[in-house]
Amino acid sequence: MRVVLVGPPGAGKGTQAQFIASHLSIPKISTGDIFRANVSGGTELGKLAKEYMDRGDLVPDEVTVAMVRDRLSEDDAQEGFLLDGFPRNVPQAEVLKKMLAEFGISLDVVLNLVVDDDEVVRRLAGRRTCRSCGKVWHELFDPPAVAGVCDACGGELFQRDDDREETIRHRLEVYQEQTAPLISFYADEGILQGVDATGPVEEVTQRAMSALRRFAD
Ligand code: ADP
Ligand code: ADP
Repeated sequence: MRVVLVGPPGAGKGTQAQFIASHLSIPKISTGDIFRANVSGGTELGKLAKEYMDRGDLVPDEVTVAMVRDRLSEDDAQEGFLLDGFPRNVPQAEVLKKMLAEFGISLDVVLNLVVDDDEVVRRLAGRRTCRSCGKVWHELFDPPAVAGVCDACGGELFQRDDDREETIRHRLEVYQEQTAPLISFYADEGILQGVDATGPVEEVTQRAMSALRRFAD
Protein backbone atom coordinates (compact mmCIF):
# COMPACT_ATOMS: atom_id res chain seq x y z
CA MET A 1 0.00 0.00 0.00
CA ARG A 2 1.04 3.59 -0.55
CA VAL A 3 0.04 5.64 2.45
CA VAL A 4 0.57 9.22 3.63
CA LEU A 5 0.18 10.33 7.27
CA VAL A 6 -0.78 13.96 7.86
CA GLY A 7 -1.59 15.84 11.04
CA PRO A 8 -0.26 18.73 13.09
CA PRO A 9 3.20 18.56 14.68
CA GLY A 10 2.91 16.34 17.74
CA ALA A 11 -0.22 14.49 16.56
CA GLY A 12 1.64 11.19 16.87
CA LYS A 13 2.58 10.65 13.20
CA GLY A 14 6.05 9.25 13.94
CA THR A 15 4.74 7.08 16.77
CA GLN A 16 1.93 5.63 14.64
CA ALA A 17 4.06 5.39 11.50
CA GLN A 18 6.40 2.81 13.05
CA PHE A 19 3.50 0.51 14.05
CA ILE A 20 1.48 0.93 10.85
CA ALA A 21 4.55 0.41 8.63
CA SER A 22 5.46 -2.73 10.54
CA HIS A 23 1.86 -4.10 10.32
CA LEU A 24 1.87 -3.49 6.56
CA SER A 25 5.51 -4.57 6.03
CA ILE A 26 6.36 -1.37 4.17
CA PRO A 27 9.13 1.17 4.87
CA LYS A 28 8.35 4.26 6.94
CA ILE A 29 9.79 7.32 5.23
CA SER A 30 9.95 10.31 7.56
CA THR A 31 11.31 13.52 6.02
CA GLY A 32 11.90 14.98 9.52
CA ASP A 33 14.04 11.94 10.47
CA ILE A 34 16.02 12.14 7.21
CA PHE A 35 16.67 15.86 7.73
CA ARG A 36 17.71 15.28 11.37
CA ALA A 37 20.10 12.47 10.33
CA ASN A 38 21.69 14.88 7.83
CA VAL A 39 21.97 17.61 10.47
CA SER A 40 23.77 15.26 12.90
CA GLY A 41 25.92 13.91 10.08
CA GLY A 42 26.96 17.48 9.16
CA THR A 43 26.13 16.98 5.44
CA GLU A 44 25.53 19.89 3.04
CA LEU A 45 21.82 19.02 3.04
CA GLY A 46 21.83 19.05 6.85
CA LYS A 47 23.54 22.46 7.00
CA LEU A 48 20.96 23.90 4.63
CA ALA A 49 17.95 22.30 6.38
CA LYS A 50 19.05 23.21 9.91
CA GLU A 51 18.35 26.96 9.71
CA TYR A 52 14.79 26.32 8.54
CA MET A 53 14.17 23.55 11.09
CA ASP A 54 15.49 25.63 13.99
CA ARG A 55 13.03 28.40 13.13
CA GLY A 56 10.17 25.91 12.65
CA ASP A 57 9.82 26.81 8.97
CA LEU A 58 9.52 24.36 6.10
CA VAL A 59 12.71 23.44 4.24
CA PRO A 60 12.36 24.71 0.62
CA ASP A 61 10.28 22.46 -1.63
CA GLU A 62 12.94 21.79 -4.27
CA VAL A 63 15.35 20.42 -1.64
CA THR A 64 12.68 18.33 0.07
CA VAL A 65 11.18 16.96 -3.13
CA ALA A 66 14.59 15.91 -4.52
CA MET A 67 15.31 14.07 -1.27
CA VAL A 68 11.95 12.26 -1.37
CA ARG A 69 12.38 11.37 -5.05
CA ASP A 70 15.72 9.68 -4.23
CA ARG A 71 14.25 7.82 -1.29
CA LEU A 72 11.20 6.58 -3.23
CA SER A 73 13.42 5.16 -5.96
CA GLU A 74 15.15 2.82 -3.52
CA ASP A 75 14.32 -0.90 -3.83
CA ASP A 76 12.44 -1.26 -0.55
CA ALA A 77 9.86 1.39 -1.56
CA GLN A 78 8.78 -0.31 -4.78
CA GLU A 79 6.01 -2.41 -3.20
CA GLY A 80 4.61 0.38 -1.04
CA PHE A 81 5.60 2.97 1.56
CA LEU A 82 4.32 5.06 4.43
CA LEU A 83 5.21 8.75 4.15
CA ASP A 84 5.40 10.60 7.49
CA GLY A 85 5.77 14.40 7.25
CA PHE A 86 5.63 14.62 3.46
CA PRO A 87 3.84 16.23 1.70
CA ARG A 88 3.62 19.27 3.95
CA ASN A 89 1.96 21.72 1.55
CA VAL A 90 -0.18 21.57 -1.60
CA PRO A 91 2.71 22.18 -4.06
CA GLN A 92 4.56 19.16 -2.57
CA ALA A 93 1.37 17.08 -2.89
CA GLU A 94 1.06 18.06 -6.54
CA VAL A 95 4.69 17.13 -7.26
CA LEU A 96 4.24 13.81 -5.45
CA LYS A 97 1.17 13.03 -7.54
CA LYS A 98 3.10 13.72 -10.78
CA MET A 99 6.14 11.79 -9.57
CA LEU A 100 4.05 8.69 -8.81
CA ALA A 101 2.12 9.04 -12.08
CA GLU A 102 5.48 8.82 -13.93
CA PHE A 103 5.83 5.34 -12.41
CA GLY A 104 2.18 4.51 -13.24
CA ILE A 105 1.15 4.43 -9.56
CA SER A 106 -0.79 6.61 -7.12
CA LEU A 107 -1.45 6.96 -3.40
CA ASP A 108 -4.00 4.56 -1.90
CA VAL A 109 -4.93 6.49 1.22
CA VAL A 110 -4.09 9.55 3.29
CA LEU A 111 -4.66 9.21 7.04
CA ASN A 112 -5.32 12.48 8.84
CA LEU A 113 -4.49 12.20 12.57
CA VAL A 114 -6.92 14.47 14.41
CA VAL A 115 -6.06 15.96 17.85
CA ASP A 116 -6.87 19.37 19.33
CA ASP A 117 -4.29 22.14 19.84
CA ASP A 118 -4.01 21.76 23.62
CA GLU A 119 -3.15 18.08 23.30
CA VAL A 120 -0.63 18.84 20.55
CA VAL A 121 1.15 21.34 22.80
CA ARG A 122 1.18 18.82 25.70
CA ARG A 123 2.60 16.13 23.43
CA LEU A 124 5.29 18.36 21.90
CA ALA A 125 6.36 19.95 25.19
CA GLY A 126 7.02 16.54 26.77
CA ARG A 127 8.53 14.82 23.71
CA ARG A 128 12.00 13.39 24.32
CA THR A 129 14.08 11.69 21.64
CA CYS A 130 16.94 9.21 22.00
CA ARG A 131 20.24 10.57 20.69
CA SER A 132 21.45 7.06 19.81
CA CYS A 133 18.47 5.16 18.31
CA GLY A 134 15.99 7.98 17.61
CA LYS A 135 13.15 6.38 19.57
CA VAL A 136 10.56 8.89 20.74
CA TRP A 137 9.34 9.04 24.38
CA HIS A 138 7.12 11.37 26.36
CA GLU A 139 8.10 12.53 29.85
CA LEU A 140 4.51 12.02 31.14
CA PHE A 141 2.58 9.89 28.60
CA ASP A 142 5.29 7.36 27.74
CA PRO A 143 8.19 7.78 30.17
CA PRO A 144 11.24 5.50 30.14
CA ALA A 145 11.98 3.55 33.36
CA VAL A 146 14.86 5.90 34.24
CA ALA A 147 14.31 9.59 33.41
CA GLY A 148 16.54 10.81 30.59
CA VAL A 149 17.68 7.32 29.51
CA CYS A 150 16.27 5.35 26.55
CA ASP A 151 14.80 1.98 27.63
CA ALA A 152 15.43 0.56 24.20
CA CYS A 153 19.20 1.20 23.89
CA GLY A 154 20.44 3.04 27.02
CA GLY A 155 21.07 6.22 24.97
CA GLU A 156 20.66 9.77 26.25
CA LEU A 157 17.27 11.45 25.75
CA PHE A 158 17.12 15.06 24.60
CA GLN A 159 14.49 17.68 23.79
CA ARG A 160 14.44 18.71 20.14
CA ASP A 161 15.42 22.39 19.67
CA ASP A 162 12.20 22.95 17.71
CA ASP A 163 10.08 21.56 20.58
CA ARG A 164 10.65 24.66 22.72
CA GLU A 165 7.61 26.81 23.40
CA GLU A 166 8.34 29.71 20.99
CA THR A 167 9.09 27.40 18.06
CA ILE A 168 6.10 25.16 18.83
CA ARG A 169 3.78 28.16 18.40
CA HIS A 170 5.36 29.07 15.07
CA ARG A 171 5.19 25.47 13.80
CA LEU A 172 1.47 25.36 14.59
CA GLU A 173 0.98 28.53 12.52
CA VAL A 174 2.97 27.02 9.66
CA TYR A 175 0.78 23.91 9.94
CA GLN A 176 -2.46 25.94 9.76
CA GLU A 177 -1.29 28.05 6.83
CA GLN A 178 0.57 25.51 4.72
CA THR A 179 -0.22 21.95 5.76
CA ALA A 180 -3.92 22.03 6.75
CA PRO A 181 -4.97 22.82 3.12
CA LEU A 182 -3.80 19.28 2.26
CA ILE A 183 -6.89 17.97 4.01
CA SER A 184 -9.29 19.37 1.42
CA PHE A 185 -6.80 18.58 -1.38
CA TYR A 186 -6.90 14.87 -0.49
CA ALA A 187 -10.62 14.91 0.33
CA ASP A 188 -11.17 16.12 -3.25
CA GLU A 189 -9.01 13.23 -4.47
CA GLY A 190 -11.33 10.87 -2.56
CA ILE A 191 -8.53 9.22 -0.54
CA LEU A 192 -8.71 11.05 2.82
CA GLN A 193 -9.54 9.16 6.02
CA GLY A 194 -9.75 11.01 9.35
CA VAL A 195 -8.48 9.12 12.41
CA ASP A 196 -9.24 10.18 15.99
CA ALA A 197 -5.68 10.35 17.39
CA THR A 198 -6.62 10.88 21.06
CA GLY A 199 -6.35 8.14 23.69
CA PRO A 200 -3.74 5.40 24.12
CA VAL A 201 -1.23 4.78 21.31
CA GLU A 202 -2.50 1.19 20.72
CA GLU A 203 -6.09 2.38 20.31
CA VAL A 204 -5.03 4.99 17.75
CA THR A 205 -3.10 2.28 15.85
CA GLN A 206 -6.23 0.08 15.84
CA ARG A 207 -8.34 2.95 14.45
CA ALA A 208 -5.72 3.68 11.79
CA MET A 209 -5.55 0.00 10.76
CA SER A 210 -9.38 -0.19 10.49
CA ALA A 211 -9.38 2.93 8.32
CA LEU A 212 -6.68 1.40 6.09
CA ARG A 213 -8.61 -1.87 5.72
CA ARG A 214 -11.54 0.08 4.27
CA PHE A 215 -9.20 1.17 1.45
CA ALA A 216 -7.29 -2.10 1.05
CA ASP A 217 -9.54 -3.79 -1.55
P1 ADP B 1 6.91 16.90 13.60
O1 ADP B 1 7.22 15.48 13.99
O2 ADP B 1 6.87 17.79 14.77
O3 ADP B 1 5.67 17.01 12.75
P2 ADP B 1 8.99 16.62 11.65
O4 ADP B 1 10.00 15.78 12.34
O5 ADP B 1 8.11 15.96 10.65
O6 ADP B 1 8.14 17.41 12.74
O7 ADP B 1 9.73 17.83 10.91
C1 ADP B 1 10.68 18.64 11.58
C2 ADP B 1 11.10 19.77 10.65
O8 ADP B 1 11.71 19.23 9.45
C3 ADP B 1 9.96 20.65 10.13
O9 ADP B 1 9.60 21.67 11.04
C4 ADP B 1 10.58 21.21 8.84
O10 ADP B 1 11.53 22.22 9.13
C5 ADP B 1 11.36 20.00 8.31
N1 ADP B 1 10.50 19.19 7.41
C6 ADP B 1 10.07 17.92 7.61
N2 ADP B 1 9.33 17.49 6.56
C7 ADP B 1 9.28 18.53 5.68
C8 ADP B 1 8.66 18.73 4.42
N3 ADP B 1 7.90 17.77 3.84
N4 ADP B 1 8.81 19.93 3.80
C9 ADP B 1 9.57 20.90 4.35
N5 ADP B 1 10.17 20.79 5.55
C10 ADP B 1 10.04 19.61 6.22
P1 ADP C 1 4.61 13.77 15.32
O1 ADP C 1 5.49 12.83 14.54
O2 ADP C 1 3.22 13.88 14.73
O3 ADP C 1 5.22 15.11 15.54
P2 ADP C 1 5.23 12.05 17.64
O4 ADP C 1 4.89 10.68 17.17
O5 ADP C 1 6.66 12.43 17.71
O6 ADP C 1 4.38 13.15 16.77
O7 ADP C 1 4.52 12.27 19.07
C1 ADP C 1 4.66 13.49 19.79
C2 ADP C 1 4.77 13.16 21.30
O8 ADP C 1 3.51 12.67 21.75
C3 ADP C 1 5.80 12.09 21.64
O9 ADP C 1 6.43 12.45 22.84
C4 ADP C 1 4.98 10.81 21.80
O10 ADP C 1 5.57 9.94 22.76
C5 ADP C 1 3.64 11.36 22.32
N1 ADP C 1 2.47 10.61 21.86
C6 ADP C 1 2.28 10.02 20.65
N2 ADP C 1 1.07 9.42 20.60
C7 ADP C 1 0.49 9.63 21.81
C8 ADP C 1 -0.78 9.25 22.40
N3 ADP C 1 -1.69 8.53 21.71
N4 ADP C 1 -1.04 9.66 23.65
C9 ADP C 1 -0.12 10.39 24.35
N5 ADP C 1 1.07 10.77 23.88
C10 ADP C 1 1.39 10.40 22.61
